Amino acid sequence: MTRHIVRATGALLIGMAASIIVAWLCVRPIATLPRDVSSADEEIHTAGQGAFGYQIHFAFRLSQRLRDEGYFADQPPPPSWVRRPETVHDPSFTVGAGWPLICLRGVRSTTKAIPHPPNQFIELGSGDDRRSLPLRPIPLALAANTVAYSVPAYALLLVPISLRRLIRARRGLCPRCGYDLADSPGACPECGRESRARRGRVVA
Ligand SMILES: [Zn+2]
Repeated sequence: MTRHIVRATGALLIGMAASIIVAWLCVRPIATLPRDVSSADEEIHTAGQGAFGYQIHFAFRLSQRLRDEGYFADQPPPPSWVRRPETVHDPSFTVGAGWPLICLRGVRSTTKAIPHPPNQFIELGSGDDRRSLPLRPIPLALAANTVAYSVPAYALLLVPISLRRLIRARRGLCPRCGYDLADSPGACPECGRESRARRGRVVA
């Protein structure tokens, strides 16, 4: 029982690490992302998709006029993890990444006037090749991705155990503890595990 809990916990940790690594692999250099500048001095909106199509960059610089005109009314609403501007001049840049769900995010203010919260990104590279790897979890999405990656991780953790059991059985050893069963055709004298033939008979 304890062994199952340890294995499940290990699989969850591997699943979470895999979710984070995959999210960071989704992040593309900013220069490679498509750019949509709809109005030079009023609004900048960059939405880009990475290799798997699951990274989105978002930047806002909305004028009051655009808001009055209901800019968001005729645009698909940005995802909930994108930071909304708090004032008219509150440009910021949000990166979300992850697969299958966007599970990490980071926000940067693009003006010195408004301080931004620290520890949002790990910066890699420089210039056009710069990648901002987001650090803040989107809790539900990270949990879902973690579970999704934990299932194959759990299966992988079982492979060496199944292999060891198979090899022991071939050698005439107890699959569970490795005791030599040459002189004991029934239950293993060491750990009490019954042989497959005997168990089959019991079921029949
Ligand atoms: Zn045994």
